[in-house]
Amino acid sequence: MSVRAKTILLAAAAALALAPFAVQARRAPVRAPAAAAPAAVPAKGPPRLIVAIAVDQFSADLFAQYRSHYTGGLARLAKGAVFPSGYQSHSATETCPGHSTIMTGMHPARTGIIANNWIDQSVARANKQVYCAEDESKTAANPKDYVASVSHLLVPTLGDRLKAAIPASRNVAVSGKDRGALMMGGHTLDEVYWWKGRGFSSLEGRPLSASAVNENKALDAALASGAPGFALPAWCAAQDRAVPVDAASGFTVGTGRYVLKSGDSNAFRASPRLDRATLDLATELVRAMKLGKGAAPDVLSVSLSATDYIGHAYGTEGAEMCIQMQQLDAALGDFLIALDQEKIDYAVVLTADHGGFDLPERLDAQALPAAQRAGEALLPEALSAAVGAKLGLDPKGLILSDGASGDYWVRRELTPAQKDSVISAARAELALNKQVSVTLSASELAAMPMPTGSPETWSLAQRARASFYAPHSGDFYVILARGVVPIVKGGPGYVATHGSAWDYDRRVPMLFWRAGMAGFEQPSPVETVDIAPTLAAWIGLAVPAGTFDGRCLDLDSGPGDMCGTK
Ligand SMILES: [Zn+2]
Repeated sequence: MSVRAKTILLAAAAALALAPFAVQARRAPVRAPAAAAPAAVPAKGPPRLIVAIAVDQFSADLFAQYRSHYTGGLARLAKGAVFPSGYQSHSATETCPGHSTIMTGMHPARTGIIANNWIDQSVARANKQVYCAEDESKTAANPKDYVASVSHLLVPTLGDRLKAAIPASRNVAVSGKDRGALMMGGHTLDEVYWWKGRGFSSLEGRPLSASAVNENKALDAALASGAPGFALPAWCAAQDRAVPVDAASGFTVGTGRYVLKSGDSNAFRASPRLDRATLDLATELVRAMKLGKGAAPDVLSVSLSATDYIGHAYGTEGAEMCIQMQQLDAALGDFLIALDQEKIDYAVVLTADHGGFDLPERLDAQALPAAQRAGEALLPEALSAAVGAKLGLDPKGLILSDGASGDYWVRRELTPAQKDSVISAARAELALNKQVSVTLSASELAAMPMPTGSPETWSLAQRARASFYAPHSGDFYVILARGVVPIVKGGPGYVATHGSAWDYDRRVPMLFWRAGMAGFEQPSPVETVDIAPTLAAWIGLAVPAGTFDGRCLDLDSGPGDMCGTK
């Protein structure tokens, strides 16, 4: 091929990459500078629609790293009330617990959502793992084929509370993950959708609305046709380097562009396209349900999952995440413009369910200290073997867990004395492991008071206390040393993760925005459990004292008294 022909092809590919993806092309909003606030006049009274957005795995570090490059939705929100150091204060920094704090205003110790999965040895099925957003009583044998449910969430969300106070209020949730939608939306959802397989799905027995049916049709067509990759923004060039993850197979990350092959729904999911589709469906629901135009304020929860799938598949510092940051900002900008065009008085909060950490291989290549993969000794099989040999007990199923850190359970058929000796022996074994920072028994955690005060000063044990709920929690809890990633071996789709008690996984941005509000930035640490009390005050919903673990943040930079505490 001639150089000229090659150049033309490359130019065509670049143009395609810049062209709106088929799904968004149907209803591209009129372009306006997304960062510009549409109204200079401060809105009066409670907003008519609360839009609560969780960007899955959007760490405070990512927000800070890319902030100067945002020109769309994130740039607009960053002109409101900015809390760059929000905390998912608890230790088990996973998706389900994180989402459970945002709209309830409570730590996982009270929401009951201690992790994405826990072990319940009393369930009837052979596999004792229970997923946070399933109804295990309805699942025959396999937790992989579960019935989605919010029954494990012990407390109401803001949408639930508002609806209980004013039944005309609508409560709607959309996400790339069932747990994202359900844990933010709660128990009384008028509409709820999440990505499942190759389109949006809802709770068992609920027919899809016309909005969801139409979105799924568009997604079907988009998936069938495939799509070219995204162009690399110039400011991503430094990150565009291949990092070897597995020398034997030659598997690398760092230089991806998200080319979508026809029918590859997994690739669709781990790409910016998932967020675009989620926001498209949210927009359609706002229009179809006339959210924000009813007799009472409405609540729309949106959880955008692509950043998390991308972080797991490619890490946080490669070209892939850089492209995602640009595309997320653009998709959020279009979403806010679409809301402006509906002429709704809406208020936005944007945060994350947890932070994230890059893959150890890239951190190593950059000569950054102390990042490593967890060793197999932390897995329940290895721990069972070591403890079983020491105590003369059958190692099979002696110690159970959902991974290489966090909660561990001891076989329930043992006598109380045997159980105590297994816990002691396991903790003694782990105390010798340099990858372990601290272990805590359930009884130690149960005896601790709930932590209060500024979350950056909490001890590791206090962080674990905020994740402890006895009926779901393990018999002991393991906190790894800083920089130890609880993935024993990285491979395609899963090279990096979060879930630790360290601040790279706990710190998230918290941005509040409403047209006309006077923006400000407050660098002091705040918590994601502060969001629900703040929103409750913003919409004028009275909630009894002591309901929330968090506190109302006064978003009025002037002499106002939004929180009613002055
Ligand atoms: Zn997550």
